[in-house]
Amino acid sequence: MNFTLTAEQTARYEDIVAFARTELDADVLSFDREGSFNRENWKRCGEKGILGSHVPKEFGGQGMGALDTVLTLEALGYGCRDNGLTLALGGQMWSVQEPILTYGTDEQKRRFLPGLCAGDLIGAHGVSEEHSGSDALSLRTTATKTDGGYVLNGRKTYIGMAPLADVALVLANADPDAGSWGVSAFLVECDAEGLSRSEPYAKTGTRTNLLGDLVLEDCFVADENVLGREGVGISLFTRTIGWERAFIHAGHLGSMQALLERSIEFARQRRQFGQPIGKFQSVSNRIADMRLGLETARLLMYKVAAMKDEGLDASLETAMAKLHISEVLLDCATNAVRIHGARGYLEMHEVERELRDSIGGVIYAGTSDIQRNLIAGLLGL
Ligand SMILES: Cc1cc2nc3c(=O)[nH]c(=O)nc-3n(C[C@H](O)[C@H](O)[C@H](O)COP(=O)(O)OP(=O)(O)OC[C@H]3O[C@@H](n4cnc5c(N)ncnc54)[C@H](O)[C@@H]3O)c2cc1C
Repeated sequence: MNFTLTAEQTARYEDIVAFARTELDADVLSFDREGSFNRENWKRCGEKGILGSHVPKEFGGQGMGALDTVLTLEALGYGCRDNGLTLALGGQMWSVQEPILTYGTDEQKRRFLPGLCAGDLIGAHGVSEEHSGSDALSLRTTATKTDGGYVLNGRKTYIGMAPLADVALVLANADPDAGSWGVSAFLVECDAEGLSRSEPYAKTGTRTNLLGDLVLEDCFVADENVLGREGVGISLFTRTIGWERAFIHAGHLGSMQALLERSIEFARQRRQFGQPIGKFQSVSNRIADMRLGLETARLLMYKVAAMKDEGLDASLETAMAKLHISEVLLDCATNAVRIHGARGYLEMHEVERELRDSIGGVIYAGTSDIQRNLIAGLLGL
C-alpha cells in the first residue's frame, strides 16, 4: 500500500486546481442565486480533458484509471467553488459515459462519447420516477416494441441536468409482466419527438446543477439506441449506480479540504474574549472532527478506486464510502457554518452555500438508509 501521490499525480492535481481557480470561479454567487448553469464552464472542463478522464483515448477521453480520475475530480472540487458544476460533471461521467462504455456498441460509443467528453453534449441519467425513488427498479415508464424500435411513455423525475440535456440514458420497462427483469436501457436524444422537459426545480443546494423531469409521450427510440440488450436493466443499473455512488462525491473531497482550510484560517484570526476562537476547545474540536472526517472519507474513496482499478468487486466498500462521505460532508459543512458564526449564515461569505450543497449528498445515488441496508445485506443480514 502506498499513500504517497506520484510526481505526475501531484502535478496534475496542481494543474487542475489552477485551472479551476482561473477559469471556473467567476460569478459563482450569481449563478447559484439564479439557479442557472454555466455552459461555458462545462465546455472548458471538456477541453481540459476532465469530462473524459476515465474514457479511453480512442473515444475522445484521457484513458485514466479510477484513482487518477478521482484525484482529478478532487482537485477540481478544491479549486472550483461551484459544487453544482462538479456534481453535474460526476453525474454524466459515472452514470452516462460509464454505462455507454460498458454496454454500448462500438457505433454508440463513437456516436456519443467524443461529444460527451468534449463538453459539446450534456448527458442525463433518467431512472427516478414519482412512484419509484429508492425502489428504483419498480419504475413504471414503458417501452413498447414497434417496427424498428420502441415507443416510450412515462415521466422521469428529479433528473440532474434534464432541462438542458442533449442525450438521456432512460430506463423503461419493455416487459412489465416480468417485473424488474423487463427493465431496459435507452439512449434517448433529447430533441426526439415526444420528449419534453420540465422547468428546473427550485431547490436547496447545488442550484447550478439543474434538476428537472423528462416527459416521454409516445417517444420513438430506434433499435440502435437500445443500450445493451432488452432486459439488461437490472445489471446495467446495478453496475452504473455502483460507479456513481462510489465517486459522485470525488469533487466534494476537494471542497471539504477547502472548507477545512477556511475554517482553520478563520479560527486563527477571529478573536473573542481576548483570544483567537481556535483556542477554545469547542471550536478546535470541530476542526479536528472535520479533519478526521475528510481523512476517512478520502481513504475510503481511494480504496474503492484502487479496488475498481484492480477489477475487484467493491460493492461493500462502495456502500460504506457513499454513506460515510455524504454524512461527513454534511457534518463538515455544518461545523464550518457554526465556526464562522453569523458570517457562516450569510450568502456573501459562501459558507452557507457549502451546507446547502452538501444536503443532497445523503439523498442522491441512494440515500444513507439505503446504503446501510446494502451494507447489512452484504454482511448476510
Ligand atoms: C440533487 C439530486 C439529484 C438527483 N439526480 C438524479 C438523477 O440524475 N437521476 C435520477 O434518476 N434520480 C436523481 N435523483 C433522485 C434520487 O435518486 C432519489 O431522490 C433517491 O433515490 C431517493 O428517492 P426518493 O426521493 O423518491 O425518496 P424515497 O425513496 O421515497 O425515500 C424517502 C425516505 O424513505 C427512506 N427509505 C425508502 N426506502 C427505504 C428502505 N428500504 N429502508 C430504509 N429507508 C428507506 C429513504 O431513505 C428516505 O429517507 C436526484 C435527487 C437529488 C436530491
